[in-house]
Amino acid sequence: MPGNTTRENTAAPAYLRIAVPSPLRRTFDYLPPADLFNQGAAALADLQPGVRVRVPFGRQQVVGVLVETSCDTQLGRDQLRPALEILDSSPVLPPSLVALCQWAAAYYQHPLGEVLHAAMPAPLRRGESAEPARQTVWALSAEARGLPQTAFSRAPKQALLFQALLAQPALSRDAIRQLGISDTTVKALAGKGVISQSSAEITAAPATHTLRESPLALNPEQRGAIDQLRYQAFNTYLLEGATGSGKTEVYLQAIAAVLEQGRQALVLVPEIGLTPQTIGRFERRFCAPVAALHSGLSDGQRLQAWLAAASGQARIVIGTRSAVFTPLPEPGIIIVDEEHDPSFKQQDGFRYSARDLAAVRARRHAIPLILGSATPALETLHNAMQGRFHHLRLTRRAGGAQAPLVQLLDIRRLAMEEGFSPTLLQDIETTLARGEQVLVFINRRGFAPTLICHDCGWVANCAHCDARLTVHRHPPHLHCHHCDYQRPLPQQCPQCFSTNLQQLGQGTERSEQFLQQRFGQVPVHRIDRDSTRRKNALAGLLQDVQRGQPCILVGTQMLAKGHHLPNVTLVAILEADSGLLSADFRGPERMGQLLIQVAGRAGRADKPGRVVIQSHHCQHPLMQLLVSEGYQAFARKLLAERQIGGLPPYRYLVLIKAESKRPENALAFLAEARKTAQQLQAPSPQLHYLGPLPALMEKRNNRFRYQLLINAAGRRARQTLLQSLCRQLEAHPLSRRVRWAVDVDPQDMT
Ligand code: ADP
Ligand code: ZN
Ligand code: ZN
Repeated sequence: MPGNTTRENTAAPAYLRIAVPSPLRRTFDYLPPADLFNQGAAALADLQPGVRVRVPFGRQQVVGVLVETSCDTQLGRDQLRPALEILDSSPVLPPSLVALCQWAAAYYQHPLGEVLHAAMPAPLRRGESAEPARQTVWALSAEARGLPQTAFSRAPKQALLFQALLAQPALSRDAIRQLGISDTTVKALAGKGVISQSSAEITAAPATHTLRESPLALNPEQRGAIDQLRYQAFNTYLLEGATGSGKTEVYLQAIAAVLEQGRQALVLVPEIGLTPQTIGRFERRFCAPVAALHSGLSDGQRLQAWLAAASGQARIVIGTRSAVFTPLPEPGIIIVDEEHDPSFKQQDGFRYSARDLAAVRARRHAIPLILGSATPALETLHNAMQGRFHHLRLTRRAGGAQAPLVQLLDIRRLAMEEGFSPTLLQDIETTLARGEQVLVFINRRGFAPTLICHDCGWVANCAHCDARLTVHRHPPHLHCHHCDYQRPLPQQCPQCFSTNLQQLGQGTERSEQFLQQRFGQVPVHRIDRDSTRRKNALAGLLQDVQRGQPCILVGTQMLAKGHHLPNVTLVAILEADSGLLSADFRGPERMGQLLIQVAGRAGRADKPGRVVIQSHHCQHPLMQLLVSEGYQAFARKLLAERQIGGLPPYRYLVLIKAESKRPENALAFLAEARKTAQQLQAPSPQLHYLGPLPALMEKRNNRFRYQLLINAAGRRARQTLLQSLCRQLEAHPLSRRVRWAVDVDPQDMT
């Protein structure tokens, strides 16, 4: 900090300390806006942290967040600019959330202003109003208030609505629908002049009775899990149970307990896990208002859902990663479903883990956190083994369904047809003949991953990345999956003009086409990012499949998540080897999780399921372990390897990443980073440095990418180092010539 601090004689605060969205890791001081200044010191003292302030920043105006009002400033008073406008009369972010953001900014070494922006919905970031939208509500007319309780007893639905409105001044359309009352009933009562419409803020009190559908009778394991939960203290519970073992039912009953105490529940789900099915399951169980926060919403809808949570009106909040920042006046529990899912870690910008922040948040609120998964992340398992988490297990399938039979199919030397072995094709045929469904999992979208000239060997590469272009047929074109570059499918080799171009390898489109030709009598549905781009396309398709007619589903990992597909009895995994052979140390962990998750789709109802895994490495010890002894044994083996290798969760990693148009700039920056870091803390067994090294894909989107890996024995040493390192790097001239980022606890090493 510069030494010449200006201190006013009065004790009253005179400066606004503001977190501004900028790459600089510091706050900025401003004078109060002129109108507030004229109102005197008292007005300023009333300002609460967490209100948004519009300020000049460079030549722009930006929306910052007030962190504190202060009596002194780092600069001379005459060097400060006045803020332009205070945007809120009360904080949009409550103190507990500002504190969480401050913690996250320090832990992830990310500028506080950007962290606060990430915590707010887009309209608030733009400075738009944080007032709840007005909505149409229904209330009883004056005459109707005089009617006896028992009025309308011959029309039960009308009676229900009448009584609900006797108990509450007004109800929104949604609230009425949640009571199971149809538009027809509303119209009928409106027609009789019993109820009328008006416009009001969304402030309806939550329904008093919380359950709409009675809970299931828990099996002994589920009961054991529920009985262990303590609602008045922070504890982390790992709820480990296979798909279909009844985890969601445990969540629902824990939430019921929390709602009964008048508190709110926050449920985080992976990006592709937040289906209408999931939301529907919560809405069917509870009368309490549910707010869903996901990418399918418009900005305005998202803001309203967020405000409903912040006002306490929504009692259950379900959302993807960024929902971990939703303000909750009365938090009672946080649940992270499929906690191992990589989508909880943001991979660009503010690289936070929503799961880990959920733990920090639950601790601060002194409430329980449930992490649920069939395949817990190794970090989580390790914590459970160390006794830091309570380990709750559900070992049997709740509905009585049997666990699937898993079979490894050695495909070495077999005559393959478009990636399918003869044995597998036979299996598919007999399954369909029994009137059942088949799911084929293949982790690559498009038609073929490579286009090659058979005459000269030319390969269609992306002009901007170190990557091959993928052949797509729907519509026909070449596509780079890394930078989105697209071009028409060439008819001729650009190098030797031969027309003998070959499409190598398997993608979902190709498998779909092949299966259609081969099993023409049943429908083949492809499910991947391309086929489900249209809103609700996936939901519609799954509804079709749930009717149970024989069919084949071909898809990517979009298929691995939570969908209930009761008539799928054969799951085929075309190729399981890439995870085993991956350059990323998390490759095998991810492979194991994916295989178990995909396998979990099979045989959920009365029919037992089978899983066939095609592999060239059936003898691989990890593969054997996974299939013969299950995920627990597999994970313990991987943990032992991590310990020997000095990797997480036994060590703590940071990646400093840099990229630039000219490779030498990024390399020079990282060399400087390493030098600076080593001056701060010399290499030792406690702290080692690796790099700068090229990223796995060195060139992407015309930028050259490098990374420096720091591997520390403890979090504290890492934190101390990073704090000074980032400050020094920020001041270094090279930092302005490269794009650089700090990834704390990186999940993706490529
Ligand atoms: P998970 O979340 O672990 O995949 P679910 O909670 O979705 O498991 O349960 C799987 C199926 O079993 C669902 O159809 C659910 O309704 C049913 N189920 C769950 N718990 C019970 C129970 N205690 N009794 C009967 N059926 C149950
Ligand atoms: Zn050629
Ligand atoms: Zn590209």
